[in-house]
Amino acid sequence: MIRHRARRHRMFGIAAAVATIGSAAAGLSMAVTPADQSDALRRAIDGGPARNVILFLGDGMGDSEMTIARNYQVGAGGRLWMDTLPFTGAYTTYALQERDPRRVDYVTDSAASGTGWATGVRTSNGRVSSAVGSAGVAPLVTILELAQRAGLRVGNVTTSELTDATPAVLDAHVNDRSCQGPADMKACAPYRKSNGGPGSIAEQSVDHLVDVLLGGGRRRFAQTIEGGPDRGKTVMESAEAKGYTIVYDASGLAAARGPRVLGLFNDGNMSLEWTGQPASPAPYRAPQTCLEGRRALLTNEPSLAEMTARAIDLLQNARGTSGSPSAVRRGFFLQVEGASIDKQAHVESPCQQIGETIAFDQAVKVGLDFARSHPQTLIIVTADHAHSGQIVPVPSASEASARPGALSVLLTKEGSQMAVSYATRAPGRAQDHTGSQVRIAAAGPQAANVVGLTNQTDLFTTMARALGLVPEAAGSR
Ligand code: MG
Ligand code: ZN
Repeated sequence: MIRHRARRHRMFGIAAAVATIGSAAAGLSMAVTPADQSDALRRAIDGGPARNVILFLGDGMGDSEMTIARNYQVGAGGRLWMDTLPFTGAYTTYALQERDPRRVDYVTDSAASGTGWATGVRTSNGRVSSAVGSAGVAPLVTILELAQRAGLRVGNVTTSELTDATPAVLDAHVNDRSCQGPADMKACAPYRKSNGGPGSIAEQSVDHLVDVLLGGGRRRFAQTIEGGPDRGKTVMESAEAKGYTIVYDASGLAAARGPRVLGLFNDGNMSLEWTGQPASPAPYRAPQTCLEGRRALLTNEPSLAEMTARAIDLLQNARGTSGSPSAVRRGFFLQVEGASIDKQAHVESPCQQIGETIAFDQAVKVGLDFARSHPQTLIIVTADHAHSGQIVPVPSASEASARPGALSVLLTKEGSQMAVSYATRAPGRAQDHTGSQVRIAAAGPQAANVVGLTNQTDLFTTMARALGLVPEAAGSR
């Protein structure tokens, strides 16, 4: 165990700044004198171009959510794979107010924050890569669109519906994130195909010819298109006519060949990895141990790590199809989202939240392994916003009833009790996002640009510049 953890620290030739090697069985830890990192960091700085970018995004994975998962799974002194990237910084997360874009909304949703990192432009909550305050169709160009225009292959992978806000910000533009399928267009009249618009998020994803689309949300793609040349077809029928192979389970994904693959593994969001008791108001339940392996036991859905590996394989081994033949270049842009970290924090379910964080971390490992044999790959691991869960003192019987919100005590694998509190709302009332800065970590070409405190919108510039898609960094706020 000790040797295994030490190896993780040195993946990129860099030991953690303060390495504490824990003995999980005994629950003891021993501080190790940290090595001087100066030379290793100098060597890790690579200002060259990137052939590939893989962006790993944990929805709602703030510092608190990462720490909860780390404590539970590998111990307070352990390290997750996402902790091993050589360059780490933080970035701001905030939106603009729709009615007065000069004013800030300090708590962002995934649509506005996603628009920030995907386009470099801030917008208001609920908008998907569309300009704040605009009444008509007002698309903001995304990193995926720029990459595709340059002839790179592009992929979008998530554990939520493929039409949910995070994947949507890359391959769709709508004024409201609820407009996920052709039958869901109530809030997006100018975008309706029957009004001459580009259609719902599902329709736009397929019309964009994104090479690899893997996630949930089959019910959106089963809806019938209500305007334009594909009127009367379902989005799935339209996708097949555009050259997509549609797959529905893990074995279908394993066998799928390009040029384009659409994986729809669940009607709604994909199944959760772990289960356990939700947090509750006092009197609290006894300390719990999470039940793991639920998705694998109960479903034929692929894991996020499996989807990531397959997406890389499909993007890596097929020729570009989206650019003009002369513009085709080698390389890809891939987004991988751990979506239900956020969704399970909303419903105060710490075991499910941790299980999704660990599954996301396993997907990060797939990316890091690929980057080791393909060094021209920029890997980024970040979140879109922070969330409600907090690690708080374990309540004693006498003061338990004085606590607000919902709370759960977990028995961690290193043998300690960890209390997780959700108290942005009364218990059971859907907890909120929070407005804190979040971590951004990177490895590979131009990874050093994430160091320090940057803005969420700067991530667009970092990725675009690494891929040679913008000549100069634009200013950002
Ligand atoms: Mg999301
Ligand atoms: Zn959320």
